[in-house]
Amino acid sequence: MKSLTGLSTVLTGTVLALSMSLMAHAEEKNKFESRQMTGVEPVSVEVDIDGAVERLSKAVQFPTISNQDRSDFDTEAFLGYHQFLMDSFPNVHKTLKREVMGDPRPYSLLYTWKGKDPSLPPALFYAHMDVVPVPDDSRDQWKQEPFAGAVADGYIWGRGVLDDKNQIHAILEAAEMKIKEGWQPSRTLYFVFGQDEEVGGPEGAKHIADVLEQRGIKKFAFVIDESAPVTPGIFPGIPDNTALIGIAQKGFLSLEIAIHGQGGHSSQPPEESNIGILAEAITKLEDAKFPYKIHPAVRQQYLYMGPELDKDKQPMYAAVAFGKDGEMTELEKQFIKEMATQQLTRAMLHTTIAVTMFNAGIKDNVLPPSAIAVVNFRPMPGDTPEVIIDHVKKAIDDDRITVRDISASTPATNVADATGKGYKVLEKTIRQTWGNDLIVSPFFVIGGSDSKHFQARPFAPDVYTITGIQLESMKEYAGFHGVNERILVDEYAKSIGFFYQLLNNLEEL
Ligand SMILES: [Zn+2]
Repeated sequence: MKSLTGLSTVLTGTVLALSMSLMAHAEEKNKFESRQMTGVEPVSVEVDIDGAVERLSKAVQFPTISNQDRSDFDTEAFLGYHQFLMDSFPNVHKTLKREVMGDPRPYSLLYTWKGKDPSLPPALFYAHMDVVPVPDDSRDQWKQEPFAGAVADGYIWGRGVLDDKNQIHAILEAAEMKIKEGWQPSRTLYFVFGQDEEVGGPEGAKHIADVLEQRGIKKFAFVIDESAPVTPGIFPGIPDNTALIGIAQKGFLSLEIAIHGQGGHSSQPPEESNIGILAEAITKLEDAKFPYKIHPAVRQQYLYMGPELDKDKQPMYAAVAFGKDGEMTELEKQFIKEMATQQLTRAMLHTTIAVTMFNAGIKDNVLPPSAIAVVNFRPMPGDTPEVIIDHVKKAIDDDRITVRDISASTPATNVADATGKGYKVLEKTIRQTWGNDLIVSPFFVIGGSDSKHFQARPFAPDVYTITGIQLESMKEYAGFHGVNERILVDEYAKSIGFFYQLLNNLEEL
């Protein structure tokens, strides 16, 4: 009896200790405190920066422009750039398999760097070759010719030098260095360089995602693509240098909303004109906003970012971070109310409705027989094209109006794991490159880049998006699709170091 009691005491004690440690663990997990990695040793990587700058400067001189008019496509620029890459990175082209693909036009590049252990899930590095056009009326605002690849005042200048040729080149420079050292990755690495990211990637990234899926890849261990560069003050409320790691992207859908009826002479108008009917339909649609909800990626974002923000609002951010889908606490309601006051943060709360085109009429005394509008949606998970079309038809509630999907639509993507190894590898690499004096946080991308074609599929749950370069200030953002696109030479060297170090760190995954 005694021994039994003793045993039961021991058991009770064990169970108690176990449940206490579980509770402590749960408490630990639910503690709302800084989650910044600390004490990472900085690593400086020696880079042939003069050579690298010369190569990037030449890259800018190939006008690989994606025009909205897809018939206006400069094949010479792409072919010239392909050849230039082959000449510039001889070891990469000796060691990696290179394939040119794209549907229907094959101008994207897929490189395969065979790993030592084919049983390991592969990793993928994505960047895009195409650039946005430079409008003629903005040319005089450029301090350097946009396609000259000037190197001046400590900067490399030109269209694509920040978005996104710097990333292609930093990846290839790092790979070239590693091959020269006799290094080979353990897992197979893919480099994918798309031809049409700036117009949604239907020919390049989408096609290559199809091909890789058909080749039987079950799961990528890690995917990296561009998003926001490391920048001080990039997130409102955090003045510090900040690296945002995109963990999920919204979807994309464009609908044509039209009325095709009868035209006529303006001297004897009907009671309702086609333009009037369509205008009313669009007004009704704009009023039928999609309901607000908290996306799982937003919860992850505030789990990391919340503790770095305003102390008074910590309970609210904690409620968002630890909240449950399908329930809505008062604090979460408060969060939604605050976020909904600003365009940028409102967009992360629901499927957005943006009326982007409205066309009708050709002459002042002719009633047009039809009127056509285009509305662009950026869907949240669950808002499939069918759900959205249904929502639109119900909102408009007018049989005279037709609704048609005119986009290569993509659904909202998977959410990458912000607590997993891939995220940690990336945060470590960021700190090795740019030091510990910066905030690293996951975030929900309200726009999107070509990696959405991978991240929307089951084989790529963990896609992380960040442009691996430091900008000095938010002012430099003007270069994105704007004027005076440029990067600092010194920062470009660090960018190459970042990818070099990432190749090393992916071995730990
Ligand atoms: Zn880009």
